Amino acid sequence: MPPEVVVFDLGKVLLEFDYGLAARALAPASLRDAAHIRQVLDQSPLLHRLESGQLDEEGFEQEVRQETGYSGTRDDFRRHFGDIFSEVPEMIALHAQLKRHGVRTVLFSNTNGLAVDHIRSRYPVFSEFDGWVLSYQAGAMKPDARAYQAVESLTGCAGPSLLYVDDRPENIEAGRRRGWRTILHQAPAVTRDAVRRQFPALSSVWE
Ligand SMILES: [Mg+2]
Repeated sequence: MPPEVVVFDLGKVLLEFDYGLAARALAPASLRDAAHIRQVLDQSPLLHRLESGQLDEEGFEQEVRQETGYSGTRDDFRRHFGDIFSEVPEMIALHAQLKRHGVRTVLFSNTNGLAVDHIRSRYPVFSEFDGWVLSYQAGAMKPDARAYQAVESLTGCAGPSLLYVDDRPENIEAGRRRGWRTILHQAPAVTRDAVRRQFPALSSVWE
């Protein structure tokens, strides 16, 4: 039996991202340099609190302003913080093929509302999923078991009916322990072939 649902991670799977871009864009209106801003954005507890739903967007912005002296507008802050992504074309194409052949897909991401607003408006792939489990809404981040339970309740599937693609070994391991089929994403061509092998009945229609 092929899987019923393919569960995709977003960052470094479907979209590349680089917090350095946000740090460099925020720096001219800040008192601290880009290297410091980058640390505040993605190597401090702030982002984790935002993405686990413990801190809202306004609170996050306030704390970043305090840590960096950023004095630009709220619109500029949101735009620069969100504008860190770029598409991974091979993976977007793989997702589109799955959808074309009637395979259900779910997006499963540790993320935040600022990023999602930006991604939804800029990258059509976001809206093409059948469902979304987003950490800041679920109140739990991968690899916390509660996040995986949210995927199972949303889809009504468990164990090997779920095929899960993620680039982080600890996230994949948590899925594997629940009996999900898993693919640790490293290179698009390898992931594409591994996903296709799970759907032998579709082997003639992939190209
Ligand atoms: Mg990722």
